[in-house]
Amino acid sequence: MPPSPGPPELYGLWLHPGDAGRNEAEVATFLDKARDAHINTIVLLVKDADVLYYSSKLFPEDVAPQYRDFDLLRATVAEAHKRGMKVHAWLTDFLEGPNSSAVKLHPEWAALNPDGQTTASEMLGADRPYPFVWMCPARRPGYTDRYLLPVIREIVTNYEVDGIHHDYVRYPGDVNPDGYCFCDFCLEHMFAHSHLAYETPPEEAPLERHLPRVDADLGRDYCPKPAHWDQWTRREKADFLLAGRYEYDSAPDMSYYFYTYRTDAIKAFAREAYELVKSLRPQAVISAAVFKNPETSGRFIGQRWSDWTQYVDEFMPMTYRSHFSVDWETFLKEFGEYTRYQKRWVDKSEFDQGIATGYLYREMYDPLHQMNEALDCWVARQGDGGAERAEVYRLAQTTLSQLPTGPRKTAFAQALQSLPQSLHSEAERQAVINLRNLNEKLVSDPPLGFLPPDRLLESIRVARRNGADGIVFFAGGSIEREHLWEAVKAGFGQ
Ligand SMILES: [Zn+2]
Repeated sequence: MPPSPGPPELYGLWLHPGDAGRNEAEVATFLDKARDAHINTIVLLVKDADVLYYSSKLFPEDVAPQYRDFDLLRATVAEAHKRGMKVHAWLTDFLEGPNSSAVKLHPEWAALNPDGQTTASEMLGADRPYPFVWMCPARRPGYTDRYLLPVIREIVTNYEVDGIHHDYVRYPGDVNPDGYCFCDFCLEHMFAHSHLAYETPPEEAPLERHLPRVDADLGRDYCPKPAHWDQWTRREKADFLLAGRYEYDSAPDMSYYFYTYRTDAIKAFAREAYELVKSLRPQAVISAAVFKNPETSGRFIGQRWSDWTQYVDEFMPMTYRSHFSVDWETFLKEFGEYTRYQKRWVDKSEFDQGIATGYLYREMYDPLHQMNEALDCWVARQGDGGAERAEVYRLAQTTLSQLPTGPRKTAFAQALQSLPQSLHSEAERQAVINLRNLNEKLVSDPPLGFLPPDRLLESIRVARRNGADGIVFFAGGSIEREHLWEAVKAGFGQ
């Protein structure tokens, strides 16, 4: 008897509203292209940090102005279903912005660091303020049950979506991975969550409750909540939770309970979202964009997703090349290895490997970005070309070797030849700007053949060979800009 065919592979696309279209005709045009490339699942962004991209009656002030007269989600679902495609509604779960109604009306719902500040107080590097406000996943009542779950309920109730898609289902990581959440709610509920304090504490605390030592000290019934906790500052409380000890002779282990509290808060939300969606529409699925390793993301961002596989039907790990530092050939090996591990971690859930197309072409994009920087430095500094000019020449050789023969390559080579030795006159300035513009155009509109389709095909093959049930590309807009529709079509047609 021949083996029965499994379910069809998922060929997906994360899609941003601006790339989906501003009216029904544009949405239809985009979906035609996607369908022709064998895409069968669209993951459409409907909730971003500051805005909603569907006609919300619950939070109308959050609906993006350009989508108030055009219900993008309704149009996308209708047009996708006509073409036999599915639509998952993609939400940036715990990521908000300073202008969202949730943050403005309920600043107490935001996650706080030991200084009592939100993530909007953090810096990326030395000079870039972090633009987002992360919300506390644990607080009840709070953002999770008063905003996020109601948004999910509204979408599943009012739209025929095939799935709800979690993104940013975690704590902040790129800024201060150990810094959140120390809001008033969390500082109090940390102890109750792991039952590290009795509900009716005796007069004197902490309790000394030494029992005879048993295996692994499980007989200990110590209560680590410090005496006069309510009089401690937020900073003192945070220091205790990050570096304190469960008992005077244990290793510094209070952080174990802190990180467990965070991963449990995310798991609790995953369960609530799953139960809500299934109660409203049992056939709708839950999918999730997660970091590539649930063990390290459990430690750093509270996202131990291998703990909540029963609440996610389809995992879409973001196994992007930007999370690997190695060259292309080594990346393919490590990507395959990660795919095998992820296949185990997802357990019985479906596993669709996430690939960001742009990062596959690091060797092409990096010289362009670096040349832009060198040219900008030179223009700002004026004068003799010096080190910047030498750098531009060096980078341009790489780009010239990668560019396909044609008018774009010829123009680029000519602009390079016309580069002045020093920058004094307006004509010299224009020559530099001309090269800068041609270089930038290679980023925003790369010529056909500059980004080898083989890399896309190879990454699809490696993911499949190592156990992925499907592939999701990040994102629709970059496939379009990078002229990769034919490559996607070829990859999924195999
Ligand atoms: Zn909190």
